[in-house]
Formats: sequence, structure tokens, C-alpha cells
Amino acid sequence: MSGLGKGITTASIGRILKSSGLKVSAVKIDPYLNVDAGTMNPYQHGEVWVTEDGGEMDLDLGHYERFLNQDMSKDHNITTGQVYLEVISKERSGEYLGQTVQIIPHITNEIKRRIKLVAEKTGAEVVLVEIGGTVGDIESMPFLEAARQMSLEEDVIFVHLTLVPTLETTGEQKTKPTQHSVKELREAGIQPNVIICRGKEMVGEEAKRKIALFCNVESKAVISAPDVENTYRVPLILQEQNLGDLLLEKLGFNDKKVDLRDWEILVSKLEIRSPCVKIALIGKYVELRDSYISVREALKHAAGSLECGVEIKWVNSEDLERKSVENVLNDIDGILVPGGFGKRGAEGKIKAIEFSREEGIPFLGICFGFQLTVVEFSRNVCGLEGANTTEIDPLTQHPVIDLLPEQREVKEMGGTMRLGAHDILLERGTLAHSLYGKEIIRERHRHRYEVNPEYVKILEENGLKFSGRSLDRKRMEILEIERKKHPYFIATQFHPEFKSRPERPSPVFKGLIQTCLEGK
Ligand code: GLN
Repeated sequence: MSGLGKGITTASIGRILKSSGLKVSAVKIDPYLNVDAGTMNPYQHGEVWVTEDGGEMDLDLGHYERFLNQDMSKDHNITTGQVYLEVISKERSGEYLGQTVQIIPHITNEIKRRIKLVAEKTGAEVVLVEIGGTVGDIESMPFLEAARQMSLEEDVIFVHLTLVPTLETTGEQKTKPTQHSVKELREAGIQPNVIICRGKEMVGEEAKRKIALFCNVESKAVISAPDVENTYRVPLILQEQNLGDLLLEKLGFNDKKVDLRDWEILVSKLEIRSPCVKIALIGKYVELRDSYISVREALKHAAGSLECGVEIKWVNSEDLERKSVENVLNDIDGILVPGGFGKRGAEGKIKAIEFSREEGIPFLGICFGFQLTVVEFSRNVCGLEGANTTEIDPLTQHPVIDLLPEQREVKEMGGTMRLGAHDILLERGTLAHSLYGKEIIRERHRHRYEVNPEYVKILEENGLKFSGRSLDRKRMEILEIERKKHPYFIATQFHPEFKSRPERPSPVFKGLIQTCLEGK
């Protein structure tokens, strides 16, 4: 079922196999009809992950990039919507003339073609294919059928992730849900080679024996994946049970050896708790933490690299509109305003930005957070009364944030924002330049609005420096306040969190944590 941790498990298996020297890649299959995740509400599926090539994808792709330390592209997220769109447009253009177009073989062939394409394009020796949803769901049936067919054409092994609940009354681990889902899988023609059991704790010997017997797998292929605080530890926990060796053997890579020593060092750094920096994250989807998963991970990576801990205080921006900001934010070391859309909660974010600017609290704004920083500064420093982004107030007197010129003609909502990685020129001598240590950087974007060029002069004259711009200098990408006037005040039009990994923390996140640490 969803939320069990298939993404983390897939990413972990990837990390384990990669550590043996294999070239690995990963694909996420989402059985919904949306073509991509870009038009979905974060409350339903969590954040939208953005790739270098501008794909708007399921958040599991983020786990893959972070665990594998590898870029993914649009090809790595297959949805039912994409598959049908392709098959139906081929039918219309006459590619199947004379045929009856059907789920088997046309849809299943298209699914297999897309999976194999990833292997071809990346040159991966092993491609992990994560099939979302639940065994037995109508929507995932064509994908399971494609996987079954593929197992006859390629070297395929099946790993099944199931829930092994513990009954609170008796403390007994129940294997029935696993037995039944494996039964469903077998009906679809798939016999799992490995079963990974999610649960509160490790699966006991008795439950393991039962699962092996009833599900027809070797007992060494029944692996536990207990709840953990630090998900980066999962590859280590799986490998302690020799999962890597088992997979290498089953895949026929007998000369390879798993070596997670480097990973172990990184993981331990991510578990350091003291000293601990407390960051307020001001958002409107704070009830569902998955909406800000990459921001949260980026904070952890930055803290880990500085050998400290980080605690996030989740602040609902709408609450800030009603309450006193000083009271809510009285116990924090830094403030982060992440990306977002629309009116709700925006004024609360603006209040938090004003507070951090005036009180000298380390601040990082991202995308919508960058845009609202410009709004705040325009109103409260430049004296531009009623300044706003036209996303919130289309009739504002001072449209300091306005639609990107190329967005004016755009009518379709799917995949039409300014997306993906673009080059950014950093000005020497600025905070941004000192953080990145180079002049040209590439970061990922997802927005429709930008700083209105007509207001750049007045903002800069009043002390808001645009230290990062597009290569043609027309687009504002980073803003900052001089370090003489504020210990750390920086915001980016792009989303730095999408490039942050345990092995490569994002410079602007690292700067935030570092400044907070120094202030303690
Ligand atoms: N809503 C803003 C825009 O479209 C910011 C988007 C974001 O934060 N990702 O430009």
C-alpha cells in the first residue's frame, strides 16, 4: 500500500547495488491517469520533484537522486496517462492500421518500451522499476502484466514490499496480509523472489518461517525493514541481512561485492544531534510534511556536513496572520520560507520575512519565498504601498512580481511553467558568490512569475542586491542583503533543495545552518 516506503526501499536497493560497482538506474511507475505529477495538490501525493530536464515528477524520484547521487530525467517516471497518450496518438496517426488496439499487447508493449528505454539511454546494468500502488488495484494490473512478460524476456527479479503489522493486544506479528498479497501477485503470474517486510520492528523467526513457507520464498529472502528515524540508514539495515549479496547472486553478478563503508560514514553524520540548530519552516501545507520533503532533506544534508543536528519547527503561515510573530518565532535560530502558490497564507509568510529582516535572524527564501521577500522589501523599505505579486493581486499598484513575459500566452496548465535547470551568473564579491565559490551555477526552477524588471533599480537602490541573474542578466535569480547589515539574508528564485544530496549539500542551505551555528 502507499506510504509504506517503496520509494526509500527502491532507492536503498539501488544504493546497495551501486556500491558494488554496478551501473544502476531507477524508474517510478505511477498508475494514475495524470501525465505527470505537476498538476496535483501536494496534499495528495506530497511535493512535486523537478528534474534537470524540467520533469515534474513523483517525489520518489527525489529519493532516487539523493540515495544514488545521480540525476534522473523525465524518462524515469512512467504514468498510465503517458502510456495511454502515446498509444492513442499512435493509433490516430495510423501506426496500428488494421489492428484492434488493446491493453495487451499495445499498452503492455508501450510500458516495456519505456522501461527498456531507460536502460538504453543510461547504459545501466540494473534498472530498478518501482511499481506504485497496491497489488490487486485495477489501475496497476497492466504494469504487473508488463512486468510478468518482461520476466520472460530479460533477467528479472521481483521484490515485494509488504506490511507485517504487530497486534497491540498480543504483540504478535501477523503474516496474513503478506500471504494474501503474494496470492494476488501469483494470480497475476508473478512469484516474488524477495519479500521485504515493513513493520515496527524486525520480523521474528516464527513470522519469517511462515512467510517463507506460505509465500514460497527462501527464508534468507525474507528481509525486515523496520521503522527507522533516519531513512538513509535503510540500505545498511537491508545489507546487514545480506540483501545485496542475495540480489547480486540472483542477478548473476557473482564477482561483485557490496561495500557501504562510505555510505555508513555519511549516515552517521546525519545522525548527529548536538549542537542542534532550530529552523522555522513557514508553509501552508505543514500538516503534510511530505509537501516539503526535499527542503527538509536539504536542511539535514547541510547540518550533517557541518556535523550538527537540525530541528524543524513547522509553522503554518495562516497562523502567523492571526498571532504575534514574535511569540511564535521566539525559540528559533533561522527562518526558511519555501516555495508555494496562491493567496492563502501569503501575508503570514510576509510577516515572517519582515521579522527576520528586522531582527537579523538568518533567512533563506525559496521561489515563492523569494518573490514574497521582494514584496515585503518593496512595501516596508522602498515605501511602495500595496506592492504585491500579480499572482495574488492582479490589480496591485506596484506589481513588483509579475508573470514571466513568455507565460502571457500560456493557456494549458500541464508542464508549462519555467521548469528545470538554467544557468545563473553570480556577481563577484557577493554572499551568493562566496557560498557557491564560482561564477556560473545551474539550479532547478518551477515558476510562472518573476521580479518585474521595472522595479529592480529602486529595490537595489534601497539595499536589496540581486547577486544572481540569468546569463542575459534580465532575470533576477538571487537576492541578498549585505552581510554588514544582516548576518544571513538570501533568497533564490530557483529551488536549491532539488540538487541537495548527502554527498553534495546545497551551498545556500549550508550557509543558513552555518550562520545559525555561529549565532548560538
Ligand atoms: N507561485 C510562484 C510562481 O509561480 C512560485 C512558485 C514556486 O514557489 N514554486 O512563480
